[in-house]
Amino acid sequence: MSMTQDRARTGEGKSFESVSPATGEVVATLPVHDEAEVREAVQRARKAAQWWGELGFDGRRERLRAYTGVLTRRREELLDLISRENGKPRVDAFIEHLLALEHLDWAAKNARRIMRPRKVAGSMLLANVKPILEYQPVGVVGVIGPWNYPLFTPMGSIGYALAAGNAVVFKPSEFTPAVGVWLADAFREVVPEQPVFQVVTGFGETGAALCRAGVDKLAFTGSAPTGRKIMATCAETLTPVLLELGGKDAMLVDSDADIKSAAAAALWGSSSNAGQTCIGIERVYVVDNVYDEFVSELTKAASGITAGGDSPVIGPMTMPKQLDIVREHVEEALDRGARAIVGGRDSVRAPYIDPIILVDVPEDARVMREETFGPVLPVTRVRDLDEAIEKANRTSYGLGAAVFGKRRGYDAARKLRSGMTSVNSVLAFAGFPALPFGGVGESGFGRIHGEDGLKEFTRAKAIAKQRFSTPAEMMSFDRPSWLPKVAAKLGDLRYGRR
Ligand code: NAD
Repeated sequence: MSMTQDRARTGEGKSFESVSPATGEVVATLPVHDEAEVREAVQRARKAAQWWGELGFDGRRERLRAYTGVLTRRREELLDLISRENGKPRVDAFIEHLLALEHLDWAAKNARRIMRPRKVAGSMLLANVKPILEYQPVGVVGVIGPWNYPLFTPMGSIGYALAAGNAVVFKPSEFTPAVGVWLADAFREVVPEQPVFQVVTGFGETGAALCRAGVDKLAFTGSAPTGRKIMATCAETLTPVLLELGGKDAMLVDSDADIKSAAAAALWGSSSNAGQTCIGIERVYVVDNVYDEFVSELTKAASGITAGGDSPVIGPMTMPKQLDIVREHVEEALDRGARAIVGGRDSVRAPYIDPIILVDVPEDARVMREETFGPVLPVTRVRDLDEAIEKANRTSYGLGAAVFGKRRGYDAARKLRSGMTSVNSVLAFAGFPALPFGGVGESGFGRIHGEDGLKEFTRAKAIAKQRFSTPAEMMSFDRPSWLPKVAAKLGDLRYGRR
């Protein structure tokens, strides 16, 4: 590990450097914002939120559309920065960029439909009162993000929170802070009037300061251990949290699956972005009678795929610490009798890891239970799809999943204990802005994306508006004595014969 990487991890002093994981080059030097500075940012955001709220749905939509324009026109600059700071190949940064724009556009377009005041079902007892429901912005949203998709992932919270009429204070990962700063700078091009979208930089302490700074909601994306700390910190001020945490996503391959495409999807789903994908495929369960064919297709697909090189398809591991975790998972599995059919111990060559495919891995090995977050794929033979479902669900996580199969693919998808599942594809659910994204169990709770995701950054407001007064008012001490009797009769007619 280089000196700069060391410094990036310890966070001593008032500034820190972000370094390229591929070259060690310093990408940016940024401030470590302390508690007082974070608090000031949130105070500024509160005023900005009011201004942003008063712009209305049309005004905000116009600004957010303009933002997608800036992000598109300055795309090459942004992709270059993502690629330098995170290490991922440019094409992976491009996919991330494209997806982020789709989501931003959808959120801007749909905010009015989701939040606007609407009349809801009336009540027999209150026929003279009109019930109205609307969703209002919460105010200031704190967003704490990871480094693996430094644009797409935080934008899933930031974009929806802004579209819902909130101001945002974003604390990007210490491994990709420059991307975060770039995003807020670009936003100022379309919203110069007020600090509607600000960035604070630093380490865990800066994130914890954001939790305590009086934000109205804290949206966190990162690991489960940090998620626990965030929730505990937010509990001090009863700040509501949205937690998007890690996963141990499984792919199931049934006997009637298209084996060649299942194998290609398993390889890409596990190794793209160097396996550093929260919804990456981390386990495969293959039904017995197609197991050999699947393993052979997977081996073929993986041949010649390596990390690094002149035009890499797999970049370096972004976080030096992750190399050790991947190495430990692979070594433990091999020491306990697993076999590597692609790659092996030597595939971990810092800062790169070539794809590793393991078979005969004990179900209780760490690589089967804990998030590996590297290009490693254990493949397990199962009797049938039911056993595959049962084994896939035997995890404390529950983020995404994939099923390959024709007849029972959809049925299995519904039975998997996960927030999202793709059938005959991998990761596809992330590409639909209208689909909610989030997990169960250790993968967190709450949703980003879609209507559910937008509503996370709103609060329901219920209004009951009396349209006319009646002489017989049930909710009054002046009610006539016959009224409760009539109401009781009506109740009997409606519910009494059930
Ligand atoms: P991490 O938990 O180490 O850090 C995430 C963020 O939390 C960083 O900005 C960090 O500075 C901040 N932080 C650390 N300690 C903190 C504290 N005590 N209080 C407040 N903030 C604190 O995660 P990471 O390594 O950056 O990201 C990888 C993880 O993120 C993986 O587990 C991955 O699965 C997960 N992830 C989940 C999703 C999802 O949508 N569910 C998406 C991407 C990544």
